[in-house]
Amino acid sequence: MDWGATVSSAWVIAILAGLCVAGAADVDSSEADWTARRAAMVQLLRRQGIRDEAVLSAMAKVRRHQFIPAPYRSRIGAYGDHPSPIGQGQTISQPFIVAYMTERLRLQPGEKVLEIGTGSGYQAAVLAELGAAVYTIEILPSLAEHARETLEAEGYDSVSVLCGDGYKGWPEHAPFDAIIVTCAPEDVPRSLVEQLRDGGRMIIPVGVGVQRLVVLRKVGDRVEQQDDLPVRFVPMVRENEEKRWP
Ligand code: SAH
Repeated sequence: MDWGATVSSAWVIAILAGLCVAGAADVDSSEADWTARRAAMVQLLRRQGIRDEAVLSAMAKVRRHQFIPAPYRSRIGAYGDHPSPIGQGQTISQPFIVAYMTERLRLQPGEKVLEIGTGSGYQAAVLAELGAAVYTIEILPSLAEHARETLEAEGYDSVSVLCGDGYKGWPEHAPFDAIIVTCAPEDVPRSLVEQLRDGGRMIIPVGVGVQRLVVLRKVGDRVEQQDDLPVRFVPMVRENEEKRWP
């Protein structure tokens, strides 16, 4: 018998059991504990190079753990330096990516911003903390509903959530001062560029497999485009593909 393998499997089981117990207790974590974890997250964002104080203070305020559905919420995970699952095979982005993309948008209070890929609603809440009027679109009904409920419960009444296909944008509210896309299409969707105002900015991950953030600015009929960080987002699906999902 291979005792080494048996002993190490026993350890794995013990560790997993411990994590499950820790996970169950997590949901009851005190508000002071969450606040301390959030402050540590913001300290790390500073060390990672985020400089915009408005973005840092927005991220110090938004209760990220509330946006992670309870079955996926954990004390260590909610404010950790990594993406976290939110159900339906989707994830809430790593705090650094949320901060970085928000910083690059250079939002001013009162601006109108469109987000594609609401997911948990966390990114939308960060944008709302910066004083923006936020319009956000999610293709999966259960996530759109969860985000809508959480945003309402957390008091973000400047956010409107639409369940629909982000490729269409939200023409009724266009033009937007800024657009942030948090799922990756193969190319920049033309419909979204059309819904930017003159001088408007967009940040969007582009590509299949290997993706790159693209920052663009609409200047009259032209689009100035700049490649940025390599990233990894879930694909931006088309409405008919979504219907084929199990
Ligand atoms: N911004 C989110 C994380 C986004 S995860 C947050 O803060 O939690 C990417 C999301 O994009 C997923 O929820 C996925 O369902 C959604 N998505 C994918 N394709 C889409 C499309 N065509 N239109 C709208 N949402 C889409």
